[in-house]
This record gives sequence, C-alpha cells and structure tokens, in this order.
Amino acid sequence: MAQVGGRSVFQVHPTRLCTLRCLHCYSSSGPDVAESLPIGVLGPAVREAAALGYDVLSVSGGEPLLYPELRALVRAARDAGMRTTVTTNGLSLTPRRIALLREVDLVAVSVDGVQPDHDRLRGEPGSHDRAMTGVRRLTEAGVPVGVVTTLTKNGATRLGEVADQVAAAGALLLQVRPLEAEGAARRLSAERPGPVELAYAAVELGRVAAEHGLAVQLDAVPRTSLLRDRASFTAEGATGDLGAWLTPLVVEANGAVVPSVHGFDRRYALGSLLDRPLADLAASWDPAPYRDLCARTWEQLTGGRTGPLITWYGHLLRASRARVGCP
Ligand code: SF4
Repeated sequence: MAQVGGRSVFQVHPTRLCTLRCLHCYSSSGPDVAESLPIGVLGPAVREAAALGYDVLSVSGGEPLLYPELRALVRAARDAGMRTTVTTNGLSLTPRRIALLREVDLVAVSVDGVQPDHDRLRGEPGSHDRAMTGVRRLTEAGVPVGVVTTLTKNGATRLGEVADQVAAAGALLLQVRPLEAEGAARRLSAERPGPVELAYAAVELGRVAAEHGLAVQLDAVPRTSLLRDRASFTAEGATGDLGAWLTPLVVEANGAVVPSVHGFDRRYALGSLLDRPLADLAASWDPAPYRDLCARTWEQLTGGRTGPLITWYGHLLRASRARVGCP
C-alpha cells in the first residue's frame, strides 16, 4: 500500500521474547521464544531503510523492552532522521526503561478492552491493571502514549468504556485493531469481528473522539476508499525507492523482510537480513508478484459482497498464503 498520511513505515520486530504468551499473538511470541536479531544487523538496516525513503521506525515484538539494544536501535533511527514508535505490553517498565522511552516519539501500550477481556486474551490475571498503570506512569513522565486495542466479536460495545479509561490515564490516541486469526490467534478465528462490528466500532470511535478529544484510528478501510483509490492499494505504476510506495516494510525477528504484514508468505519476501543488507535485498526484489497479489485481492474485495469497512491487510495476508492450483 502507498504511504498513509505522508509517512512510510519501517516496522521491525527485533525479538519474539515476551513476558506474556497472549492467546491472540500474531507473532507467537512468549517467555521461552529466544528468536532475536543482533543490533549489528538492525542498525545498518535502519540506516538503509531511511535511504530508501522510510521515515518512521516502528518497533514491535515480542516485547521490545526486553531487547537489550533497543536504545541503540532507536538512536540509529533518530540519527537517520526517522521518527520512532515502540509498542509495548506495559508490564516491564522500570525507571531506566521509561527514561529510554522518553527518546521515542510515540509509545503504544496494548490494552485489549476492559479488564476481563484483556486478562483473558493476555492469559495473565492482573495484566490489565498493570498495563493501565504503565500508561499512567509513561504519561506522567511526559512520554506521548497511544493505546492499541484489539477488537474482537462483540467488543465494539465496550469501546466507550475503554476510551474512558485510556483518556483518563492520559493517552493521546486510541488505535483499534480488528482481531486477525494469525499466529497464536488462529485458534480464535471464531472471535474475529464481522462487518457489523466493524461498522459499529467506527461509529463508536467517532463518538469517542468527539467526547474525549482522543485521536482515534480503526485499522480498516472504507470500501469507498478501496474503490476510489485503486492505485494506492495495488501499487500500480509505482516507481522509485520502496519507501515511496510500499508501507509498511516489515522485518521479522528471524531476519525475513516482507511487504505489508508480519507473517506474509515468503514467496513475496525480499529475503533475509541474515543473508544480505537491506539495500541489496531491495535492489534485487521483483515486486511484480506482490503487485499482482494486491491487484487480485483488490478485484476480489471490490467485486464481492463485503461490508462498508474492510480489513485490507488481513485480506492481503490471507491471500498471500493461498495456494493457486494446489489440489
Ligand atoms: S501479543 Fe504482544 S504482549 Fe502478547 S505475547 Fe505477543 S508480543 Fe507479547
């Protein structure tokens, strides 16, 4: 997909190590998952991403605060002129880590609904209260904080309550991510929100924005945008450096560089940072199969029966895995 809001995102998952093992984790991270990329690989990759036109480093995980070289990673991005965001579960905050996060432009704390919903998905009683404490500690320290929340089936009716809590804790942004059945979350496919829930969530977020002055974002695109702006979604005719037309570009903790979404099928990958530098991978990548996939997905979504809001990246990810012609 082309740039959104003029920003081009280089999304890095430096480690899959995490304090939690959430039911809905798309990267299947956890306390015993040691996969991690050395800073000697990621530092140069960030600089090369900036040269390719990426202007935001988004660090996700696993839990980025457990990555020992997070400070060096953030500084590499800042030195290259990029903005930075870090997504955290908010459970591992120490004074030293909060000081580190003061160097970040936006910290996103994951809060998955109200307390019973959050604690169930996170598999950890008390984790909701600890995450909200984390939001408060960060905002009190002057760190700009957004909250990322997962939307499950029937979860839209509770968005108002979530918004009340996160606004009171000082968050500036509420981002709603519809649950996708990826990674560990494949077992939760029955909990994915349908078209009605997505539409309800959009209405609810409009109300929340007006009432709380919170910036809000729903990770779904209106069908009308899809129809109106085909080239943005299919990258048809796009030229120039990757950062000008492909966002996000994703680095997984095993070194794989993939377009658009963590877990994208490897047939469309640029390659591995463990084999070659990012600049080489970008120069030798043939984007034609990826563009064909985007065009086919666009045709299916706009030609079929869909709701008014579409989770474009989720559809694209599933399409990347489909085996054409397999028996
Ligand atoms: S969803 Fe986030 S907090 Fe939960 S296991 Fe995955 S990386 Fe960790």
